[in-house]
Amino acid sequence: MPDLSQYCNDRLQALEAQHARRHLRAVPPGLVSFASNDYFGLSTHPVVVEAARAAMADGAGAGASRLVTGNHAHFAPLEAKLAAIHRQPSALVFGSGYLANLGTITALMGPGDLILADKLVHACMIDGAQLSGATLKRFRHNDVLHAEALLTEYRGQYDKVLIATEHVFSMDGDRAPIAALEKLAMKYDCWLMVDDAHGLHDEPDVPVDIWMGTLSKAAGSYGGYIAASQPVIDYLLTAARSFVFSTGLPPAACAAALAALSIAEAEPERRARPVQLARRVTQALGLTEAQSAIIPIILGSSEAALAASEALKRHGMLAVAIRPPTVPPGTARLRLTFSANHTDAQVDALIAALKHEGIGA
Ligand SMILES: *Cc1c(COP(=O)(O)O)cnc(C)c1O
Repeated sequence: MPDLSQYCNDRLQALEAQHARRHLRAVPPGLVSFASNDYFGLSTHPVVVEAARAAMADGAGAGASRLVTGNHAHFAPLEAKLAAIHRQPSALVFGSGYLANLGTITALMGPGDLILADKLVHACMIDGAQLSGATLKRFRHNDVLHAEALLTEYRGQYDKVLIATEHVFSMDGDRAPIAALEKLAMKYDCWLMVDDAHGLHDEPDVPVDIWMGTLSKAAGSYGGYIAASQPVIDYLLTAARSFVFSTGLPPAACAAALAALSIAEAEPERRARPVQLARRVTQALGLTEAQSAIIPIILGSSEAALAASEALKRHGMLAVAIRPPTVPPGTARLRLTFSANHTDAQVDALIAALKHEGIGA
């Protein structure tokens, strides 16, 4: 057995050699951020912050799992709102989006089942699939024909099949063909699960079996959830281990999320602005038109992506380099995200900086 610290040092050195070591850094102050997932600019909205503050009167923490004594009064209205947004009968709030995906997939799928996932789905869907013991197969990104080819070949060998995708892809900003995947699920007798972490509001009117989402991005707070039929929700709150064996969210997190969702609902211009700003940038740089608030500028190597991020810093802007293993090898990128709070001038300055540095042009 190696010494524990020595073992970790050796592993870190190997990662460093691959430019894959990660560091926690303080967010540099004074930079205009094009790196946050706070798309509607609600995490700092005074009404949202005040809702969190007021809910603190009910305690700073939930004190226990929701199945014990942690099911405080701030869950029910939030879950009703989430169910309505997704046109589902019911919803269940988990500790985080990661926990929602992990707990749901492991509760529903097991050995003898097949999970057919888009090549680019988030790590927590993959982790859930692996933990479930089901067979995992990947279809090429957004390629419905490839998904169908896999179903034609393999459907008969498995009991239950879950098709898993994202609504808006976190590192690419493009959208899944959800209606076509739902048709496929019907045709081949599969369930469809959609991770909506980067969507929320203005959902496609498609009868998806399981919507998953987070309260930590556009909803400006923290937590995750599933929206589905009542039996699915009732089963998950009994069988999803990441729900059962984990403490409920604090009142403030729930109250803040509910306030944020209500503001987003009431202000369609706030919901539309991030994509409009992203489109302004893709148009100015001659990139493929943005389909969401996320633009990837693919640069290839990790070094190139890091250099681009450093160059923007010199212009007073924060944009993160996204590297393997978060994205496939050879597709390291600058990931730009837009918020309803960005001013037109800030976005024009970003365009000028990108052009000046020759990034993405
Ligand atoms: C962020 C993210 C998650 C995890 O949500 P958290 O609430 O941050 O745990 C899941 N899926 C996707 C696609 C994400 O981007």
